[in-house]
Amino acid sequence: AAKAAGKNQISVFHPGLRVERLDQARIAEGLRRALEQDAFSVDYQPVVNLETGGVHAVEALLRWRTPEGVVPPDAFIPTAEETGLIVPIGTHVLRRACFDARRWHERYGIAVNVNVSAVQLRRPDFVATVLDALADSGLPGEALILEITETALLDTGMQRSDQAVEYLFQLRGHGVRVAIDDFGTGYSSLAYLHRLPVDVVKIDGAFTTLTSGTDAASRQRHAFTRAILGLCESLDLPAVAEKVETAEQEEFLRDMRCPLGQGYLFSKPVPAATLDRFLAGGGTGADTEGSGG
Ligand code: C2E
Ligand code: MG
Ligand code: MG
Ligand code: MG
Repeated sequence: AAKAAGKNQISVFHPGLRVERLDQARIAEGLRRALEQDAFSVDYQPVVNLETGGVHAVEALLRWRTPEGVVPPDAFIPTAEETGLIVPIGTHVLRRACFDARRWHERYGIAVNVNVSAVQLRRPDFVATVLDALADSGLPGEALILEITETALLDTGMQRSDQAVEYLFQLRGHGVRVAIDDFGTGYSSLAYLHRLPVDVVKIDGAFTTLTSGTDAASRQRHAFTRAILGLCESLDLPAVAEKVETAEQEEFLRDMRCPLGQGYLFSKPVPAATLDRFLAGGGTGADTEGSGG
């Protein structure tokens, strides 16, 4: 909002913007301190094979621990991106995830998904940062999946997106895979999917919150989900349905032959130690929380 308002001189004096600016400065200062004090942690959420119920991969999700509690990423990632702090924070998440995932990959053959911001993708040292994390952790490139939103690849002006695409092609040469995150919320031109370095499609939760309702909105969501899944299947791209919360949604997705799912129905994001127990067969103890909601 601050960026849009910045184009309008009058709104510089809008009291709401001042508050927002102060807020941003306060968050940025907090983020700097959090980096110094190692206050960022990474939780992991399983991506489940809907046919077998087995864990196919895990997504690394950033958490900021403060004395007041855990701050959700949506509350600070925009500030981290605007200040450039997402670069060191993102590197921290990437390295943490690679080190944690090595044992999961060795024991269970699962991959780790790491979210990457458009800001990170514009850095000329991005490829080297990823290759260093792999080399230092011993995680093979085949076990790393980078999650990128459509807008990160296509909304940054042609020159930049060309470069981002080039970086991703380079990393794919090392076995690293690319997932398009929140698919369906951006430009979503189904036609360009095959021209991008894409290996996995994550369908946004807005589509996969399927219900048995017969209203127009429910029918439309079903139709879109079915169309996206059909396209993924014909392009041989595995699809992950995000935010699966109920058994009914899982059933719909299985009927539509969606291969993979992620959501509170299976497990909430959990700390690495909890995931260790989950993978060893003990469950996370958090897998029923939030389901049905
Ligand atoms: P995302 O990458 O689409 O991650 C999925 C989000 O959905 C996570 O929110 C997860 O906790 C939430 N989720 C999973 N299952 C369910 C469900 O069944 N129901 C509902 N309602 N939500 C579910 P979270 O952890 O709050 O992260 C929000 C977003 O912040 C992420 O969306 C991602 O865009 C961003 N993010 C998280 N970690 C990182 C990171 O390390 N780097 C960057 N650049 N972005 C990150
Ligand atoms: Mg993601
Ligand atoms: Mg997503
Ligand atoms: Mg998201």
